Amino acid sequence: MPELPEVEVTARALAQRFDGHAVDSLQVHEHRLRWPVPRRLPQIVAGQRIEHIGRRGKYLLWRLPGGVLISHLGMSGSWRIHDADRLPPRKPHDHVELRCNGAVARLNDPRRFGALLWHPDSAGDVLAHPLLAALGIEPFDPHFDGEFLLRATRGRRVPIKQALLGGLIVVGVGNIYATESLYRARIHPGTEAGRIGRARYGRLAQAIVAVLDKAIEVGGSTLRDFSSTEGVEGRYTEFAQAYGRAGLPCARCGTPIRRIVQGQRASYYCPRCQRR
Ligand SMILES: [Zn+2]
Repeated sequence: MPELPEVEVTARALAQRFDGHAVDSLQVHEHRLRWPVPRRLPQIVAGQRIEHIGRRGKYLLWRLPGGVLISHLGMSGSWRIHDADRLPPRKPHDHVELRCNGAVARLNDPRRFGALLWHPDSAGDVLAHPLLAALGIEPFDPHFDGEFLLRATRGRRVPIKQALLGGLIVVGVGNIYATESLYRARIHPGTEAGRIGRARYGRLAQAIVAVLDKAIEVGGSTLRDFSSTEGVEGRYTEFAQAYGRAGLPCARCGTPIRRIVQGQRASYYCPRCQRR
């Protein structure tokens, strides 16, 4: 499933190619995504200049003069960019094609849980859209720090790992990134969120930013060859210190990494250096 680093890398790749250029055309081959792609979308966006392609949570936001194109990758979606004059044949599940600046971006989504929606400016600020309004803080927001995590979790008895995965406190910390961040911060994944103090949350906030930065950096190396199907997460796991390493020695203390299941997701941790 595409996580925040993947979406950030995608946003950067799309922005690099399309920011400042007018949309030549949009073709929708399959309207039945998670929600139907609006029938009038091709007419709405054709000819509009793409001002900026950015991201909020795992939503790609394409800012156009008349509104914002909201795109989500769902469980299995990806945007791939091809030069228009070297366009490979369409693959199965290439549902949408956007032509702009001598390139064609294709949205491929085998499971069709992704989305492509139009939010006109007349409907108000896109960040107040029902899909976006309840999202947690961005991990790269300057206000995201240990103090923020402390305040957001007072009285919460949920394990910290689940609190992170929920996305309501901070967005973008998926299973691998939560596992790695907790390992770096030396916090046991089962610790009640409300019992973690200021100093440990300070370490955790820094760890989250560092882990996501690294994943984006690793993913960014795929920008040139953006047809890679391995994805950002696949490449990032090569750098993981806890995730997927059950039985292997902890890099800090040599104790074998342990695997547990929390809320049906695998967690990996060092039983010696990660404390409750
Ligand atoms: Zn250890």
